[in-house]
Amino acid sequence: MKIDGQCHCGAITYEAEVDPEHTTICHCADCQTLSGTVFRTSIRADGDKFRMLKGEPKVYVKTGDSGAKRAQAFCANCGSPIYATAAEGDGPKIYNIRAGTVRQRDQFVPKLQIWCRSEQQWLPRLGSIRKLEKQS
Ligand SMILES: [Zn+2]
Ligand SMILES: [Zn+2]
Repeated sequence: MKIDGQCHCGAITYEAEVDPEHTTICHCADCQTLSGTVFRTSIRADGDKFRMLKGEPKVYVKTGDSGAKRAQAFCANCGSPIYATAAEGDGPKIYNIRAGTVRQRDQFVPKLQIWCRSEQQWLPRLGSIRKLEKQS
């Protein structure tokens, strides 16, 4: 499926060809901190299927518990996380596009949750928390 997306301020735009089956929620502590919320949803794109259209994201390289270095790309102006990819190695790159920046994100339903050992304990009860259509 063809998708396109942008950061909040519009300085960065991209397009990609993705398989909606590869939509994953990550509950790891790094994703919680890097996203500023309690889990992160990403859509996988092969390196040759992801293309920046406008702007150049800033990259922060984090080292995971496994020692693997991951490049976390985000907009230097508005802070929106755009994607993560391997920061080293010669293998074909895989981009984990941050679902919240994808224009067609309402069409992507996560198929897998990982790092559930650090999942926030209230998340399974999300549906029972009081809801308002807007802020108030
Ligand atoms: Zn931006
Ligand atoms: Zn994670």
